[in-house]
Amino acid sequence: MDFSMQDIKYLPGVGPKRAELFAKELGIRSVEDLLYHFPYKYVDRSRFYYLHEISGNMPFIQIRGQILRFEKIGEGPTQRLSAIFSDGNDTIELVWFKGIKFILEKYKTGIEYVVFGKPAAFNGKYNIVHPDIETLSQYNSAGQTGLQPFYNTTEKMKTGFLNSKSIQKIIFPFIQQLKTGVPETLPAYILKKFALMNLTESIINVHFPKNAYALNKARQRLKFEELFYIQLSILRQTKWREQNFSGFVFAHIGHYFNTFFKDYLPFELTGAQKRVLREIRTDVGSGRQMNRLLQGDVGSGKTLVALMAMLMAIDNGYQAALMAPTEILANQHYETICNFLGDLGINVALLTGSTRPKAREELHARLRSGELNILIGTHALIEDVVKFSNLGLVVIDEQHRFGVKQRSELWKKNVQPPHILVMTATPIPRTLAMTLYGDLRVSVIDELPPGRKPIQTFHYYQNKRQTLNQFIAKQVNAGRQVYIVYPLIQESENMDLQDLENGYEYIREVFPQYKISKVHGKLKAAEKDYQMQQFVSGATQIMVATTVIEVGVNIPNASVMIIENAERFGLAQLHQLRGRVGRGAEQSYCILLTGYKLASDTRKRMDIMVKSNDGFEISEADLQLRGPGDIDGTIQSGMPFELKIANLAQDGKMLEIARRTADEILQDDATLSKPENNILVARLKKLNNKSSIWGIIS
Ligand code: ADP
Ligand code: MG
Repeated sequence: MDFSMQDIKYLPGVGPKRAELFAKELGIRSVEDLLYHFPYKYVDRSRFYYLHEISGNMPFIQIRGQILRFEKIGEGPTQRLSAIFSDGNDTIELVWFKGIKFILEKYKTGIEYVVFGKPAAFNGKYNIVHPDIETLSQYNSAGQTGLQPFYNTTEKMKTGFLNSKSIQKIIFPFIQQLKTGVPETLPAYILKKFALMNLTESIINVHFPKNAYALNKARQRLKFEELFYIQLSILRQTKWREQNFSGFVFAHIGHYFNTFFKDYLPFELTGAQKRVLREIRTDVGSGRQMNRLLQGDVGSGKTLVALMAMLMAIDNGYQAALMAPTEILANQHYETICNFLGDLGINVALLTGSTRPKAREELHARLRSGELNILIGTHALIEDVVKFSNLGLVVIDEQHRFGVKQRSELWKKNVQPPHILVMTATPIPRTLAMTLYGDLRVSVIDELPPGRKPIQTFHYYQNKRQTLNQFIAKQVNAGRQVYIVYPLIQESENMDLQDLENGYEYIREVFPQYKISKVHGKLKAAEKDYQMQQFVSGATQIMVATTVIEVGVNIPNASVMIIENAERFGLAQLHQLRGRVGRGAEQSYCILLTGYKLASDTRKRMDIMVKSNDGFEISEADLQLRGPGDIDGTIQSGMPFELKIANLAQDGKMLEIARRTADEILQDDATLSKPENNILVARLKKLNNKSSIWGIIS
């Protein structure tokens, strides 16, 4: 039975209306989609816990008792409802941020309830946020024992009466009569090698676990399958590409590279820069197309490496392009690179959204004729009208800001794809890199240029403003510049802008003697540039901004980064922002300002920032704290697929095994034409059809 061809509409309890909700909200259309909609948690209904048993990091549990009293805390949008729940001996706080009115109408004090939820520590005490509650009689009549599955739904689905329970009710009878079984998706030899549960058993147990052991086996198999097919797809693609596209050969190191190295380089390259250049050199001389990811912490000197790689291209008669995610950054690269090159005789041009039509035309012509050696720009340089005479190398800065699609567009800019070097200052943990950029070779700059003092980071509560102001004054009077950054999250953009405006006014009042720049995303490009330029030139001493300044900007004289409401930023973003300072010879500081009450995860984030300056360590911690599904949106946007069950933070080991297995299979049977591998080809094909993005992972 091919469940991918079976519309869920015809399942009992679904029908056209709910089928539409499933499709719209979760992309679930076929029975197979539904079977692969795995529960995100299980509540252990096999026993009740006592409150005194609660400890850190518990799963979802059930407790029995009564609500002693309700209390509304706070006002307006931050209001919450608190209920004190007692199991007869001890109490715990239940908390709701939404649906307060509904909760107060539905639940009463003095009634025997069963509460389900995941206890979390907050300010040294445990509470349960948004618990599920049943009366004892509801609980007893549900007849649910053992592990109860919970399914993700959306608000819209809930209003359409498609909550976790109703999904369970739809899947349960279907699974019970799964006589024919679900067609296996892994070859028998893999199942045997790793003693994996078969697919039918796994699907049954992931939805309705016989016991914890069977659930574990089922989840392992499904995780393996998921990771294995991602790796197989990536590796097959890579091998196919290596066979079908040869790369331009940059056979020699010539005049420009050598002269630049001898006479123009203002400082010694660091050991790491030299090593990475050798790696690039090997790639571009190999006859295969280079696809390399250069990871290096903020300020580690990636731009220079990029420039020297571009000189290799030019020495061999090719053009090079450098693409940056924002106009500010493209401008800055243009200036930096022109400065580095001086009168070496290389033609560099800048192309962004604000390049005037006339200048654009002229630039296009110079590009086509081959007169231009280096083109620097924003994604404007992907546009079809931009044609090179002989593009040999493309460098993409802050790669995570671009979609996979944009990257693949660049391939088409020459008869044969150019070499590609992508750079990122948001270091990605190994497991994530293997999934995201599984086909890229990775270089790492793990050394900062000499003479840099590590940035000192402090975590202050809001009540330290006076001290902070004195500190700002001291720094500015010593000739330094200061960033003050406010968070900006899309949903409440106006409110956030208000925070920034208030902050700006406050700073103006406290420091009437200083000049202040103000930059945020709502400004017109010209105004933003002007404000930025004022700060770059030193005309202003303080820059009040949103995260628009997050990426890449280089102002060595700025030595203080103050992050307001630091609790609202992810670790990766905090580290990026901190990287805006510490670029000159002076001691630099980063100050994280937060409110006093912090959730335990937030406190951990602040602690990591204070303790560590190492981007890799921080991104590893981020992965552990937040889970990859939730990792900074910037990385998310580069993620070409969604993991349904595997978790990159926890399943790194399995990912490596999956990758090795995929690699071994392809070594042995590159075209997957052996009969025992038919099953792999069929599955890959199906996955490719499902998501067009699978096909262009590159
Ligand atoms: P990032 O890796 O964050 O892009 P940049 O390329 O902007 O870092 O480099 C940061 C600063 O370090 C720049 O001012 C650059 O000129 C300087 N720099 C780069 N390499 C070296 C080096 N080997 N020695 C000293 N300074 C360097
Ligand atoms: Mg950079």
